[in-house]
Amino acid sequence: MGDTPTQPVTTELDVVVVGAGFAGMYLLYRLRTMGFVTKVYDAASDVGGTWFWNRYPGARCDVPSLDYSYSFDPDLEQEWEWTERFAAQPEILTYARHVAERHDLRRDIEFETRIESATFDEVARRWEVRTSRGVRLLAQHVVLAVGTLSTPKPPEIDGFGTFAGPTYWTARWPHDDVDFTGRRVGVIGTGSSGIQSIPVIAAQAAHTTVFQRTANFSMPARNRPLTGNEVAARKARAREYRAAARTSYSGFLVDIDAPPATLPSILAVPEAERVAMLEQKWTEGGLGLTSGFSDVASDVTANAVAAEFVREKIRSIVSDPQVAEDLCPTSHPIGTKRPCLDTGYYETYNRPNVRLVNLRRNPIRSIDAAGVELDDEHVALDALVVATGFDAMTGSLVSIDLRGRDGVSLAEAWAEGPRTYLGLAVAGFPNLHLVTGPQSPSVLSNMMVSIEQHVEWITDAIAHLRAHRMQMIETTPDAVEGWVEHSTELGSRTLFPLADSWYMGANVPGKPRVFLPYVGGCGHYRKRCDRVVAKNYEGFVLS
Ligand code: FAD
Ligand code: NAP
Repeated sequence: MGDTPTQPVTTELDVVVVGAGFAGMYLLYRLRTMGFVTKVYDAASDVGGTWFWNRYPGARCDVPSLDYSYSFDPDLEQEWEWTERFAAQPEILTYARHVAERHDLRRDIEFETRIESATFDEVARRWEVRTSRGVRLLAQHVVLAVGTLSTPKPPEIDGFGTFAGPTYWTARWPHDDVDFTGRRVGVIGTGSSGIQSIPVIAAQAAHTTVFQRTANFSMPARNRPLTGNEVAARKARAREYRAAARTSYSGFLVDIDAPPATLPSILAVPEAERVAMLEQKWTEGGLGLTSGFSDVASDVTANAVAAEFVREKIRSIVSDPQVAEDLCPTSHPIGTKRPCLDTGYYETYNRPNVRLVNLRRNPIRSIDAAGVELDDEHVALDALVVATGFDAMTGSLVSIDLRGRDGVSLAEAWAEGPRTYLGLAVAGFPNLHLVTGPQSPSVLSNMMVSIEQHVEWITDAIAHLRAHRMQMIETTPDAVEGWVEHSTELGSRTLFPLADSWYMGANVPGKPRVFLPYVGGCGHYRKRCDRVVAKNYEGFVLS
């Protein structure tokens, strides 16, 4: 007798959530509170998402810790004590774990389990989902909380993978301490991850070589311990701050008492005043360097003024004039690639044991067992750090074999770029929900605010269906068409399209070049989503 084929184990659920980062955790909390049978799946071995994976030295948030945290649980907000202005990765991961324990989340999370496919069964009107453990799930809804920056992008370099020493990806950093003492380390990539990690690596390693393809704008974080007084003052007005953040442009506010101001044009402000304003922001640290001006994000001439201010700072910090020039960004307007926040990044190039290789002048030919082969020399290395970014916003969505009506896959539907309604839904994929999807404010905002807004919108929609004895919510092609057009049009009024950035999908060879996030701002976008609900889910068909 031949072997009987083993039937996959089948689990029936109301909702499958993919991802146990901050989005997946809050989804589970809310769906469970609402009485939906929910399971969360994550490839990681614990909660935290971004903060589980990105453990590289120097990793920390660039939105202030007091804002980069959940607002849904006021008691948690009062209890939790952030210790630094910009919390480091271990503290943020401890916070995520604390939330998981506080709300007993882990009992409904399957770790070390990838969701490989999800197919919509049009007859049964439910999703059939397959996991990497061979389990078959049947669910009415699938919520993709897979993260916008969660699929690392490898460097497209000949011989990558042949290096004989250890290779460390910033986005997949080992859980055990990595010791670079006495080693010659090479770092490829100078985005936020590279710029945060390079000073820490260089302080430990015998020698560090940074391979830079594109110089980036980086501002000083001016990270520091939070004082007891400022934490207490913030907690006393926590609800006010949170309410203001939700309706703000970026999802966080430095000062809620500041009266709303009309921002001046950087070109109209007299030079002395303009320099004083920029100096003040540079001294304060953080992402707000250009936030005091109306036109830096939309006007090339205005932008050039702010960009030159940063270049002058780089020249004043870096001793070697050629290294300083190599570090000066000239390929894109400031703000059109995500600006970086650093602690001693430019100063690091004054160390005698740090070398910058400008790949624009001296490209990498290949990587081999002993190190990196440049056009004109071989750089011998003991360890390689890969900080080459992510297939952002769409990578983790299209890597799942998602099939909607008529068996059409999401990858096919998005062959020319993602098409969503509000970044929440895709036509032809009923009951499939995206958290911080393309064409939502997402990566242009404090992600905690955007995550909470999407989680609340999606879970309310699922509850609405149940309350009205309905089964399906599905957006229409017309609604998608209108939203994509609107989002693209707003993006085209900015300077974002001028950069080869991950915002444009330009960092991944072959990826369609389209502006991925929604630039209209959190507050405006929230109103739009609320209006859709008030108009009985305008742009959706409920059945
Ligand atoms: P993630 O945290 O990315 O979690 C997604 C999870 O889904 C991952 O654990 C992944 O393993 C899992 N997953 C994906 N696909 C599958 C699958 N098919 N099957 C199973 N599991 C899957 N944002 C800010 O607003 N401020 C910051 O300061 C900030 N700093 C950042 C620093 C770094 C280094 C990075 C990379 C990003 C940063 N971000 C920041 C963005 C950050 O990603 C978000 O703030 C937030 O953590 C995203 O949470 P999430 O739950 O949506 O996604
Ligand atoms: P990134 O900004 O995309 O930077 C990747 C870097 O790798 C770039 O310098 C890129 O050069 C380089 N690179 C890519 N492929 C290469 C190749 N084949 N050869 C040589 N160089 C190559 O990625 P990231 O630094 O991981 O940051 C991604 C996003 O995550 C950030 O923008 C931010 O939103 C978030 N993040 C935030 C923080 C924080 O401060 N809280 C920290 C880390 C990440 P090119 O520019 O030439 O492509």
